[in-house]
Amino acid sequence: MYDVIVVGAGPGGSSAAAFMAQSGQHVLLVDKEYFPRDKVCGDAVGGKSLDILSRLGVTKKLMKADALQTWGITFSAPSGDQISIPFSPEWDTPAFVCKRQSFDDLVFRAAEDAGVEIWQGSEARGLLWTGDAVAGVTVARPDGKQVDVRAPLVVGADGAYSAVARGLGIDQLDKKHYVGAIRAYYEGVTGFNEGNYLEIHFVDTVIPGYFWIFPLPDGGANVGLGMPSSVLKKRNIRMRELLDQLVADRRFAPRFEGARRVGKIRGWGLPLGSRPRKMAGNGWMLVGDAASLIDPFSGEGIGNAVLSASSAADWASTARRTGDYSLSVLSGYQKEVLGLLRDELRVSHLMQKIARRKRLLNMVIRKASRSKELADTISCMFDDVGERRKLTSPLFYLRVLAA
Ligand SMILES: Cc1cc2nc3c(=O)[nH]c(=O)nc-3n(C[C@H](O)[C@H](O)[C@H](O)COP(=O)(O)OP(=O)(O)OC[C@H]3O[C@@H](n4cnc5c(N)ncnc54)[C@H](O)[C@@H]3O)c2cc1C
Repeated sequence: MYDVIVVGAGPGGSSAAAFMAQSGQHVLLVDKEYFPRDKVCGDAVGGKSLDILSRLGVTKKLMKADALQTWGITFSAPSGDQISIPFSPEWDTPAFVCKRQSFDDLVFRAAEDAGVEIWQGSEARGLLWTGDAVAGVTVARPDGKQVDVRAPLVVGADGAYSAVARGLGIDQLDKKHYVGAIRAYYEGVTGFNEGNYLEIHFVDTVIPGYFWIFPLPDGGANVGLGMPSSVLKKRNIRMRELLDQLVADRRFAPRFEGARRVGKIRGWGLPLGSRPRKMAGNGWMLVGDAASLIDPFSGEGIGNAVLSASSAADWASTARRTGDYSLSVLSGYQKEVLGLLRDELRVSHLMQKIARRKRLLNMVIRKASRSKELADTISCMFDDVGERRKLTSPLFYLRVLAA
C-alpha cells in the first residue's frame, strides 16, 4: 500500500514525490509520458525554483548540465524603446534557460534517486472514492490494462489539463484567467545581449500579452508569444500566423535573417494564479499548473509548481503522522501556499492589467531607458514583491513622469 500517489512527473509532481520520499513516505509517481520528454515552455528557470530544488541536488546538476546562465532581462515597448536590466549581483542563484526536455529530466531523476516508485507511460484515467474522500487512481498501463491503485492521498500534479482536477469536478478553463501560448525553437537568431538576457517584447498586435525571444544553451533561441484567452477569442487571433508576422516585422526581421525554425510550433495553455483553484480536499491536493498557480504577468509557473510541491510534501507528512487525510488537515496546505503567494499573485495580476495600456508601457520603458535610478528600481522588482507593488501605485507613475 502506498502512502501517496502523485499523478504527473513534471517539476511539480517529481519534486513533490522526491520531497515526500525524503521524509520516509512510500510514493508512487505516474506519468503518461516517458522521460526525457518535451514540455511547451519558454524554458526560463528562475531563482525561486533553483532555491527550492537545491534541496534535491537539482540546482548543482543544472549548473553542469545543458543550461545557459542568464544575467538580466530586456523589455521593449510598442514604440520600440527598450531597456535592459541586469539581475541583482546579490542573488545567490541566477536564472537559467534550459530546455524542458533536459530540466524536467533532472527533477524526474531526483525523484528516482529519492526512492520513489515510478510508472512511466501510465495515464491516470479516473479517481477512486470511499464516500466523499479520494482513495486512489485508475491508471491505464502501457500494456493497455487498467489498474486501480489505492492510497489515502492523491496529489494531482498533471498540469494545465489535469485529469485529477477534472475528476474532482473543478472547472479548468476560466478564459479571464487563462493564457494561450505557442513556442518554436530557432537556429541562427542573432543580436542577443552578451549577458544572455531574456527578451520580452510588448508589441502592438500582442499586448496585453508579449512576444519573447530567449537565448538557448545550444546557440539557438526559444521564441514564442502568449496572450489572454479572452483576447485571443475576441480578436479572433491565429497565433501561428501572428508569430510569422512578428518574426518578419521590421523590428525583429534583421535578427531572423538566415535563421531557421527547428521542429514544429507547439501550443499549450497557462492557467493563471489570478484565480487559484481549490487546492485540497478529503484525500487530495493539487500542485503547480493543476492548481492554477502561474504568475499572471510573467507567465512563470515552474517556481510556483515546486513551491507548492514542497508545501504539499510537508502537509502529506502531517496527514500521515496524524492519520488524518481529511480537508480539516489538508486545508492547511492551501492556506500555506496562498499565504506565501497571495501578495505576489495580486501584484502580478495588477501588472497584467497595466500591460494592457500601450501608452503607459511606452512611457515607463522610454523613461526607464533614460534614468538609471528608475532602471535600478525596476531591477529590484524582480526580487521583491514590495518593490513590485509600486508599479501598481499612481505615485510611481508621477515619479516616472518626473524622471
Ligand atoms: C508557452 C509556455 C511558456 C512558458 N514559459 C515558462 C517559463 O519560461 N518559465 C516558467 O517558469 N514557466 C513557464 N511556463 C509555465 C510552465 O511551463 C508550467 O507552469 C510548468 O510546467 C508547471 O509544472 P507542473 O509540474 O505543474 O506541470 P507540467 O510541467 O505540465 O507537468 C505535468 C505532467 O503531468 C503529466 N500528465 C498529464 N496528464 C496526465 C495523466 N492523466 N496521467 C499521468 N500523467 C499525466 C504530463 O505528461 C506531464 O509530465 C510556460 C508555459 C507555456 C505554455
